[in-house]
Amino acid sequence: MSVEMMTLERAQQLLQTYYGYPDFREGQKRIVLSLLEGNDTLGIMPTGGGKSICYQIPALMLPGLTLVVSPLISLMKDQVDALTAAGISAAYINSTLTGKEVNERIRAAKRGDLKLLYVAPERLEVDWFRDEMSALSISCVAVDEAHCVSQWGHDFRTSYLSVAPFVESLPQRPILAAFTATATPEVTGDMVRLLRLEQPEVFVTGLSRDNLAMSVLRGENKREFVIKYAAEHAQEPGIIYAATRKDVDDLYERLRSAGIASGRYHAGMSDEERAASQEAFLYDDIRVMVATNAFGMGIDKSNVRYVIHFNMPKNMEAYIQEAGRAGRDGEPSQCILLFGAQDIITQKFLIEQNPQDSDRKANDYRKLQQMVDYCYTTKCLRSAMLDYFGEEHQDQPCGICSSCTDDREQVDMTIDAQKIFSCIHRMRERFGVSMVAAVLKGSRNKKVLQYGFDDLSTYGAMSDRTEKEISEIINVMASEGYLMLSEGQYPVLKLQPLAAEVLKGQRSVMQRMPAKSAESPAGRAGGSRKHDYSQSAVNETVFEQLRLIRRELAGKEHVPSYIIFNDATLREMSVVCPQTEHDMLNVKGVGEVKFRKYGKPFLDFFKDMGGDRFEGDYE
Ligand code: ADP
Ligand code: ZN
Repeated sequence: MSVEMMTLERAQQLLQTYYGYPDFREGQKRIVLSLLEGNDTLGIMPTGGGKSICYQIPALMLPGLTLVVSPLISLMKDQVDALTAAGISAAYINSTLTGKEVNERIRAAKRGDLKLLYVAPERLEVDWFRDEMSALSISCVAVDEAHCVSQWGHDFRTSYLSVAPFVESLPQRPILAAFTATATPEVTGDMVRLLRLEQPEVFVTGLSRDNLAMSVLRGENKREFVIKYAAEHAQEPGIIYAATRKDVDDLYERLRSAGIASGRYHAGMSDEERAASQEAFLYDDIRVMVATNAFGMGIDKSNVRYVIHFNMPKNMEAYIQEAGRAGRDGEPSQCILLFGAQDIITQKFLIEQNPQDSDRKANDYRKLQQMVDYCYTTKCLRSAMLDYFGEEHQDQPCGICSSCTDDREQVDMTIDAQKIFSCIHRMRERFGVSMVAAVLKGSRNKKVLQYGFDDLSTYGAMSDRTEKEISEIINVMASEGYLMLSEGQYPVLKLQPLAAEVLKGQRSVMQRMPAKSAESPAGRAGGSRKHDYSQSAVNETVFEQLRLIRRELAGKEHVPSYIIFNDATLREMSVVCPQTEHDMLNVKGVGEVKFRKYGKPFLDFFKDMGGDRFEGDYE
């Protein structure tokens, strides 16, 4: 057996023993092996991709200590709680501890009692801390949320710049591992340069998550949709992101009046209010969180069943980061983006408001346009997203996104497309979407008349449709590559080579076009469930009972419920109804240590249930 195989086998054993998972995800395997071979490694993985295991398993196999640089106190605590629950010795040092507690933990590290130590980056700048660390044997430094080192990112944090000097101050250079969910070329370059990674192995992985059904819904009554959706999924935790505090407050009030247990989170609230709200969500006391994008970093809640975007975010990076907070436990979950044309105006306003140089501005506009293209594409949304981020994937459509499940018939749009392209040509490619739509509609709008566009042969060529519908069609054509929108605040439509082929009659355009009236969107976004343990097979009563047991344990242990077992694990239990320790250890997410700590009440429950399984009603 090769060394690599042996290493992998050992790593897999540890994964089963401590985490109860039989296999690594594809990307995890490559990252773990790279670190164990001693390479500096950069892992670019979305939220929920399973980053922590990538450095925690090597930490168990490498001699000495793994130091984890982590930006948020809540994140550290959560990770250490989870590790402790799994039987792995870990601790954190941060400003919430007393001097005495800090010293105890450093002593524990010196005794070799800790495999992982979590610290905030600021700590690395403190002289005495550096001295203490120099006296330890540190084999790996893992930098979480590594994009914080870059000013290109959205969370620049100066103290991340002290990681590299800190590492160099150690008597022996440890392996450096860096992780982030943000993967633009600028940020990647900065991470390599500013963290001084040496010939790093870079892995982009895990963006494709089979359990997430992505949807974009255009032309909804957004408020109605949100209330209806939350009411129909009252038992499921969900996050609703809105762009402004005002919208957050408004949605929050509406949800409350509809009797839905909700909380809210935005920068206008006091620290205490926000902490209380976040806590209530983590502990499942409220099901729905309405928030601005201030909410999320450090939220490790794994059973979020849906993330709804009330507004389109500024770019795909932001969108995927936020939407990716759904379904971290691998269970089927929904990511729904409610798109309205107003969102584009809002985002442009924000770009204009933000003082910055012209390069950055152009960059922001380009990214905004790519986000808009995503909202209009009729291609598989998962493929569109992977293409955007440059992750390799099979050409197969996902089958569960709103494009894949769109069962409207494809219609031949060639004639409409020709009218649009020819109109743009006649307007000399100098105008934007709404002006072209107005001309095609045959509007008496002052500007249309002023330019004499009512003399064009295409004037009124699509008068049977509304201007809004025409705009929609133009936007779809743009996202499909027939047209390009120039960069900047007032983008102008330009014809692309594909459009020329259509005009010459060499290519026809088949499209699912915007329906005139929206069908039941909540139903559509429900998606199909493509999973081993389908809703119907799971006995909901049993699942609810297991949740109660978990809640009680969580209360006793003072940890959030999912630290005990996540929803996916409880669901699997509710299907297989384990009767023995062996059965229980075969359930994904049940490791040996966790079984010893928490397994008994669950096993007792199934023993009491006896042969009654699958019959329902255990009251
Ligand atoms: P990240 O830090 O990348 O956001 P986490 O490390 O918190 O993600 O992992 C996300 C979820 O996926 C967690 O619930 C974790 O237990 C689960 N997970 C991670 N790796 C595996 C695996 N190999 N098999 C099954 N579940 C996994
Ligand atoms: Zn799809």
